[in-house]
Amino acid sequence: MELVCEAHGLSKQYGHTYALQNLTMQVPKGSIYGLVGRNGAGKTTLIRILCGLQSPTAGSYTLYGTPFRDPAIQQVRRRMGAVVESPAIYQDLSALNNLKLQAQVLGLPSNRDLPHLLELVGLENPGKKTVRHFSLGMRQRLGIAMALVGSPDFLVLDEPVNGLDPQGIVEIRELLLRLNREHQITILLSSHILDELARLATHYGFLDRGRMVQEVSAGEVEAACRKCTHVEVSDVAILARVLDGMGLDYTIDSSHTANIYAHPHVTELVQALAEAGCQVSAMHQQDESLESYYMSLVGGEGHG
Ligand code: ATP
Repeated sequence: MELVCEAHGLSKQYGHTYALQNLTMQVPKGSIYGLVGRNGAGKTTLIRILCGLQSPTAGSYTLYGTPFRDPAIQQVRRRMGAVVESPAIYQDLSALNNLKLQAQVLGLPSNRDLPHLLELVGLENPGKKTVRHFSLGMRQRLGIAMALVGSPDFLVLDEPVNGLDPQGIVEIRELLLRLNREHQITILLSSHILDELARLATHYGFLDRGRMVQEVSAGEVEAACRKCTHVEVSDVAILARVLDGMGLDYTIDSSHTANIYAHPHVTELVQALAEAGCQVSAMHQQDESLESYYMSLVGGEGHG
């Protein structure tokens, strides 16, 4: 497996507090790697260290195989684009002029196709409008465009959908999926909105109190999150008898509800229950969420 980024024993200490503790991480090339962790878990600290904005107290990391202490890391960082906390955007400039300025800062030739970049992030229409008048979603997209000016193949985003409305969240999701699939950009991102992360990520790193609790692929999480059919009936004893007769695996939740861990033939089941004198009032598919998976890993205590 080719890795874009790898960390070994990474620690960051502030006085007696460890923001990161002996952390290990591997970001595979081509992945969308989601960092999951509650407030204070260390996500931003990790991202800031990987972006070179902070130094670790102990441990090391590599980017494209180059150790962070190697002077060549400066060159390797050019393959990386990042949006960490508030991106440095000039409020009184247009989107295009912000990109031009960013290209100058990076020492890139002035003939780069920056309007195309605006089109890519869905900002082709604001024209001369200054950033001051942009919506939050437009600013987030401009931040990503700024991070893309140097044509990186590794994009690092801290909470890219924070504060966005549902429409804005969908737009950023579609943009990130496009960048990953069509432009082969590896993406490392953190998000509090786990349902959203679950629609994007191919890999996860679950952080808790500065430690990497588990690194896992989305496929492995999916397999661990058992899909089931939730049913609400008038009599669970009859339901249990009917399900036993059909050879289906299930758990009884309450005096009226149960979860069936298979794909029951709905018509057959409802008919069998009706014949046995049991009414079905509701039935729907559900799966364990990424959130409950995370909570089962780290436990429910110690929020905040
Ligand atoms: P959030 O989701 O709330 O942004 P996070 O997972 O990004 O949290 P970090 O911001 O990395 O977490 O913080 C990790 C821990 O390190 C927290 O306990 C935080 O209080 C502490 N910390 C971070 N920066 C500093 C600092 N400059 N000085 C002291 N402690 C810090």
